Amino acid sequence: MTRRYVIVGNGPAGVTAAETIRRHDAAGEITIVGDENVPFYSRPGLAYLLTGTIPEKQLFSRPDSDYARQRLQRKVGKVQAIDPRGHQITLADGRSLAYDRLLLAIGARALRPEIPGIDLEGVVTLDNLEDARRILRLARRAKRACVVGGGITAVELAEGLAAQRVETHYLMRKDRYWGGVLDPQESTLVETRLADERIRVHRGVDLAAVVERRGRVVAIDTRSGARLPCDLLAVAIGTQPRLDLARQAGLATGRGIWTDDTFRTSDADIYAAGDAAEVLDPGTGERVLDSLWSVAIEQGKAAGENLCGVDQPYRREAPFNVTRIGGVTTTLIGAVGSGARDEDLVTLSRGDSQAWRERLDAFAVVSDAGANRLRVLLGADRIVGAVVMGDQTLSRPLQHLIRGRIDIRPVRDHLIQRPSEVIQVLKGFAQRTVPLAAV
Ligand SMILES: Cc1cc2nc3c(=O)[nH]c(=O)nc-3n(C[C@H](O)[C@H](O)[C@H](O)COP(=O)(O)OP(=O)(O)OC[C@H]3O[C@@H](n4cnc5c(N)ncnc54)[C@H](O)[C@@H]3O)c2cc1C
Repeated sequence: MTRRYVIVGNGPAGVTAAETIRRHDAAGEITIVGDENVPFYSRPGLAYLLTGTIPEKQLFSRPDSDYARQRLQRKVGKVQAIDPRGHQITLADGRSLAYDRLLLAIGARALRPEIPGIDLEGVVTLDNLEDARRILRLARRAKRACVVGGGITAVELAEGLAAQRVETHYLMRKDRYWGGVLDPQESTLVETRLADERIRVHRGVDLAAVVERRGRVVAIDTRSGARLPCDLLAVAIGTQPRLDLARQAGLATGRGIWTDDTFRTSDADIYAAGDAAEVLDPGTGERVLDSLWSVAIEQGKAAGENLCGVDQPYRREAPFNVTRIGGVTTTLIGAVGSGARDEDLVTLSRGDSQAWRERLDAFAVVSDAGANRLRVLLGADRIVGAVVMGDQTLSRPLQHLIRGRIDIRPVRDHLIQRPSEVIQVLKGFAQRTVPLAAV
């Protein structure tokens, strides 16, 4: 019997799942339903669109012909309801689709603080291409922008607006940038670069209200009673997995859509993966959330295999992200956080992992050469995490040492005693222990 697979969400988790299913099931009917009227594109690439570094067409990596070649049907529309008993979904325009197996790969949405004026047109968040286009449109007539929030997206918004020649103010609640993940020197490195880009960084500022005149943003009020004039406010305080559909269908949810380690939800024929899913990590027995492109792809692949009956329990790897923060190329891998609360974020930001805040028993070895900084977190016998800023020579070797849980005892003492030699020692060690192609 031909199996009907329906995938809701045309992002990396959904598309990878569809392509994986096709590799295992040549005859199955595979339909991807997404509510954005564009083919698959790079969401992290939106930051580069805002700074004008790339044209819009460079975001798209899979033309419609790719879907056709793999016999993947792409439908545009918003899924409004799931009928788990009838094995059917309904779209907002009334169309319905029957499924044998359903995957919810519907991502997460940006949160907004609950304060007066937050829904005005001049208040923006960055979830998708439509948001990026709107920000660029508003930036054309804006003179002054404020950005609140933390993590990677807040800085991307600030840099994007500054690049559009809007006077940009980045407001932090406490005293340093991304304090839950970065150490104080790493925060300073980013803040200094932001200042170099003429972004004014303000500390100890807490947003209280957005002020409007004739429906337009004209200022923000802070909790200390100050008023800062601006015509645009960009908000990046964290994301929330989309839960409406799952709740309507009666699926178990927590912070995200709950799944077991095969991505199955509380309904045997409905699966979830990517930013929307809170997936059981068999390693720890806990459910975890990530907002990472690479994790969405890994989960999409594993979910796709499980959907078509290839039993493939999830093996959670140390999450990583290679990105630019304040113009500094930065790789984050594994457990790197201090356990401190980040007052600028209420949940995970984009390009962020819960795992980065895990506090493992680790010894930090730091090599600091101005614009290039390396922090390696050593456990008893393996590296548990690393932050590589600037020079990326060790980015890939560290990904492999950490993800491969390579025993580092042969060099551990050397690293601790002579941190200035960390780059040279780890490079040599990785070459001896990791397959050549990987380093
Ligand atoms: C500006 C920005 C910067 C980022 N930077 C990084 C980075 O540097 N590194 C990194 O690793 N990650 C980054 N991310 C995060 C990364 O893009 C996400 O983790 C990833 O896209 C999640 O993939 P997904 O497939 O789970 O969901 P998504 O990519 O969010 O796709 C879900 C899709 O489902 C659609 N959808 C939702 N509900 C419905 C419905 N009811 N019916 C139909 N369709 C629906 C959504 O509109 C969306 O198109 C960034 C994200 C953004 C927005």
